[in-house]
Amino acid sequence: MMAARWGRLQGKEDDLVTDLKETTLSFKKLGRRYGVSRQAVYGFSKRQGIKRPLKPRGHQIEECRLCQTMIQLSKKPHREFISSKTIRKRTGAKSKGKYLYHLRILRDRGLVDEKFGRLHSKRAEKAYAIYFTKRLPIRTIGRKVGYKNFQSVIRKHRELGWNVPPSLYVYDGREKSRIQSEIQRRKRR
Ligand SMILES: [Zn+2]
Repeated sequence: MMAARWGRLQGKEDDLVTDLKETTLSFKKLGRRYGVSRQAVYGFSKRQGIKRPLKPRGHQIEECRLCQTMIQLSKKPHREFISSKTIRKRTGAKSKGKYLYHLRILRDRGLVDEKFGRLHSKRAEKAYAIYFTKRLPIRTIGRKVGYKNFQSVIRKHRELGWNVPPSLYVYDGREKSRIQSEIQRRKRR
């Protein structure tokens, strides 16, 4: 019986070697193609000492360390204010392309929200980190990170639909009037 099967393979060995070396088709499928059994193809492959190429594995979010890190980060409060640079660093994604590839998959599946990974400024990230945790005037925060006008950055983000909560710093009456008079002074200039 084996002889008969081998008989059919005769003259096609070179093609089979090529298929074994260059495709990831299973022994069963190759057997069907060449009219021999799966075992016959397997035995042939072993005897020829052929190293088969690895099947490319599909991307599995559950098993992807990069995706899992991003999902974890996207659960943090104020996640949309984590800069893309920081996210990339945390995930260990070497290239920007790789980072974006995984991020897009997660966005498409709705596993991270639309704004996650869209903040690109490291300075804005720094400023917001202070803004969310410290009771400081916006001007002071701006000065700390090197923004001339952090207030206008906040305003722009709000206009774009970012969820920027009110400042922790409570402006008392005196502070308010100081700001008012400064605005007036600027207008006069
Ligand atoms: Zn991934």
